[in-house]
Parts: sequence; C-alpha cells; structure tokens
Amino acid sequence: MLQALDIAILGAGAMGSLFGGLLAEADHRVTLVDIDDTHLDAIRREGLHLTTDTGSRVVSNLCVSRPEQVAAAPQLLIVFTKTMHTEAALASAQALLGPHTAVLSLQNGLGNVERIARHVPRERVMVGMTTWPADKPGAAQVSSHGAGEIRLMNADGEAHAHVRRTVDALNSAALNCTADPDVWSAIWEKVAFNAALNSVCALTQCTVGELSSLPDGEALTLKIVAEVAAVARASGVAVDEAHVVGNVRHALANHRAHRPSMLQDVLAGRKTEIEAINGAVVAAAHAVGVAVPCTDCLLQLVRLVDARGAR
Ligand code: NAD
Repeated sequence: MLQALDIAILGAGAMGSLFGGLLAEADHRVTLVDIDDTHLDAIRREGLHLTTDTGSRVVSNLCVSRPEQVAAAPQLLIVFTKTMHTEAALASAQALLGPHTAVLSLQNGLGNVERIARHVPRERVMVGMTTWPADKPGAAQVSSHGAGEIRLMNADGEAHAHVRRTVDALNSAALNCTADPDVWSAIWEKVAFNAALNSVCALTQCTVGELSSLPDGEALTLKIVAEVAAVARASGVAVDEAHVVGNVRHALANHRAHRPSMLQDVLAGRKTEIEAINGAVVAAAHAVGVAVPCTDCLLQLVRLVDARGAR
C-alpha cells in the first residue's frame, strides 16, 4: 500500500500548483507555500481549479501558507520557484527544512543543487528534469495538457530510501517518474533546448513558429544546441545531441503558437531565468575551455533586456 507523504511545494505557481494539486488528489498531505497572497487566498476560498487531459475539477484538500508562516517540516519539499528565487525562498522558509526533510528540484537550468545545498545537506537533495508543462491562467487556476515525464536522482548519486519514496509518491499522482542515474544527461539536454529556443524567442519576441519562418531561425537554434552539447561533453556529461536537435525541430514545426517562458517573462516585465540557463552554460564553458560565442552573445543581450525590464 502506498505511504501518504507530508509534502510541501515551495513556489506554487504553474508547476508547483500542478504537482501539488495532483499529489493532493493522490491523497498525500500537501501544503502549497508561496508569497502570492492573491493565489493563496483564492485557493483557501475556492480550492484549486485544475484542468488536465483527464478533465477540469476543483482540488479542495490543499493547505496553503506563506513561507514565514509554515508550522511543520514536511517529509518531502519540492522547490518550484523560478531559479533566481530559490535562495530567498529557502531562506524565508527555514521551518520547512527539518532534519529528515528531503528536497527535490525539478526547476529548469543548472545550479539548482548548489543553491539548495547551501541550506540542506547534499545527501537529502534530489535533482531532476520534467517535461510536464503547466500554465497558470489566473489565481487558483492551473492547466496542463499533453504527456510528460520526470527523471530524478539524489545529488550525491546514491539511491537513498527517500529517492524511492519520492518516485513512488510522484507515480501515485500519475506523473510518470523514474529514478535515473543518468539524470544529468536529461538535465543538460533540456538546458540545450531551452538555451536555444528561450533566449532567441525572448530577444526577438517571436513565437516558436515565427522563429521557424525566419530563413536562419532553425540554423541559429541548432548552433546553440551544438555549443551546449559540446560544453556538456567536455564537462563529462554524455548528451544525445541528435535527440535535442529532433526536439527543437519538432517544436519549430509543431508548437508554432508557443511563447517560451522566457518570452512570457520579458513580455510581463519579469526577470528571466537566463542566468541559470545560458549564464550557467557560459560559466561551465569557461571552466572547460570550450568556446560558446552564440550562447554568450544571447546571454549578454537577454541580460540587457532583463536590466531594462527592472527599470
Ligand atoms: P511560476 O512563475 O509560475 O511559479 C513560481 C512561483 O514561485 C510563483 O508563484 C511565485 O510567487 C513563487 N515565488 C517567488 N518567490 C518566492 C519566495 N520567495 N517564496 C515562495 N514562493 C516564491 O513558474 P513555473 O512556470 O511554475 O516554473 C517553476 C520552475 O519550473 C522554473 O524553474 C521553470 O523553468 C521550471 N519549469 C516550468 C515548466 C512550465 O511549463 N511552466 C516546465 C518545466 C519546468
């Protein structure tokens, strides 16, 4: 019989609300922790309106809290803030970090383990990659369409008991999760995809489809994929570059109306995750002596856009 876990989600936006809602539906005791009072108050009043391919419903067995008001540490903490908010979120929610709390990051980008390991011993930090998509159209609303998967592993590479418990909990919510010793390949492959499509769309304000209609749109994105793959290989991570190229081509051909999250952030005047994606790739490239001129140029340009948005 499945063990119901005490789970907190730190950062209950699109992904955090999706995961929290599905885990609560699977009878885990879930608390959504966020600083967005409008979202939290609406969930307190109405429950979470969750729409997936299996239909629309209201999840009403969720607890919500601001970080500084959390009362008890969970068995499992899933961090789903944007990467640049991880540290502030963890610092303000120390009551979430008990002596036995395992922490999972499925955030995009690189550096997630290092950020969390400043607050929690590495043997209790899990890291992974998910292809589940989520949107948050309004307060107390979340939607997700299409299939996805999760691959995760402990940051120290050991198969601790909390890894199996976490995989089982996520699978009880039909989130299609596997413990994967090669998780870094999956993480870097997603970084390559995001470094290519997110930064170019954020700068040009093109949808994925508009980008593909430019004569050099595909060539530019594939150049970035090649740069990131070279850095990964030089860093000792085996990436399947052909697989990423296939994913990029598929997105260019089929996800034509999609606005990648970095473009959505720019349009909303929010800071982007460029530092955890292109920024982390450029830092890793310097460490292993690989040239990444396109990734670096896009990093500098998105930094300018971020700085302009901050004004
Ligand atoms: P989001 O912006 O919808 O949600 C982030 C949430 O964090 C917000 O509700 C925000 O209020 C909250 N937050 C910010 N600072 C906080 C703090 N100090 N304490 C507590 N909460 C705080 O972002 P998202 O789309 O859910 O993405 C989360 C992560 O998952 C990102 O790293 C993203 O790249 C990754 N990801 C997103 C998707 C997707 O489809 N949305 C898919 C895979 C991975």
